[in-house]
Amino acid sequence: MADTAPQHTDAGGVDGGVGLTALLVAAARAIESHRPDSLAQDTYAEHFVRASPACADWPVRIEQAPGGDSNPLWGRFARYFGMRTRALDDFLVRSVGAGARQVVLLGAGLDTRAFRLDLPSDCVVFEIDRAGVLAFKREVLTDLSAAPRAKRVPVPVDLRADWAGALTAVGFDPDAPSVWLAEGLLFYLPGPVETYLIDTVDRLTTAGSALAFEAKLEKDLLAYRDSPIYAATREQIGIDLLRLFDKGPRPDSAGVLTARGWSTSMYTPFDFTRRYRRGPLPESNDALEGNRWVFALKPGP
Ligand code: SAM
Repeated sequence: MADTAPQHTDAGGVDGGVGLTALLVAAARAIESHRPDSLAQDTYAEHFVRASPACADWPVRIEQAPGGDSNPLWGRFARYFGMRTRALDDFLVRSVGAGARQVVLLGAGLDTRAFRLDLPSDCVVFEIDRAGVLAFKREVLTDLSAAPRAKRVPVPVDLRADWAGALTAVGFDPDAPSVWLAEGLLFYLPGPVETYLIDTVDRLTTAGSALAFEAKLEKDLLAYRDSPIYAATREQIGIDLLRLFDKGPRPDSAGVLTARGWSTSMYTPFDFTRRYRRGPLPESNDALEGNRWVFALKPGP
């Protein structure tokens, strides 16, 4: 792809387009963190929300949301993001416990795992996102004098460009085990970009590496246009997720990894609601219906 990909110079920040979705997830994490039965703690999340004029009036506690828990956006959808955060935290910590010392966050957004998880100090966290998003993140974290628990390496690059070159140029070692997260990312990317991403993760990983990603299996995303979650996100904060999602055919990334020898397992979010005994349950006209969380491990020789 490095040779054929168009050059993407859009520095896209958090104040619009897909960048704003990073703030949406941060607001959800802030709300989750303040819940008495919280599944994930992110004390930085509300600072991101408060730092951007783009979301000055968004809630950071469920009590501030109109209708509280019955609000489809700040209630059910935010709880979904909180639960997803916890599921991927657990996966990452397990993978590091099994020996991975390199973490790659694809479409890192305002993810603060390098600051809030108990990672070994010899761990390196590579955060890939567009320059504008990472610049905003740096400003907020610098103002907070936040110190990462592991070495943290921001990698400002567009995933439609030669991100593999950018990652290896800043020290990523393909011969050492790594753990990768693509949280809330793949459905924003065109199908061929996802295919390249999965191929590249396979190429840059050695035995003992792990990847978790979120996929959406719906064949017709637009059928969910009036679902409570998408309608509330559009109407309350002006983010039209269906406009941001890529509408082209999706590759079967879990199938590709399985065919290449990875051991993959796929779950619905509702599987985790049962596991954690809190979180969203299925409902009618449910935009979460097709969401899947895929966990993949590259076995040894
Ligand atoms: N993974 C983070 C989380 O869960 O908090 C952020 C999720 S947010 C919904 C999607 C992120 O993907 C945004 O930060 C956005 O900038 C990033 N993103 C989308 N398309 C991208 C691209 N082509 N290159 C790099 N980053 C991209």
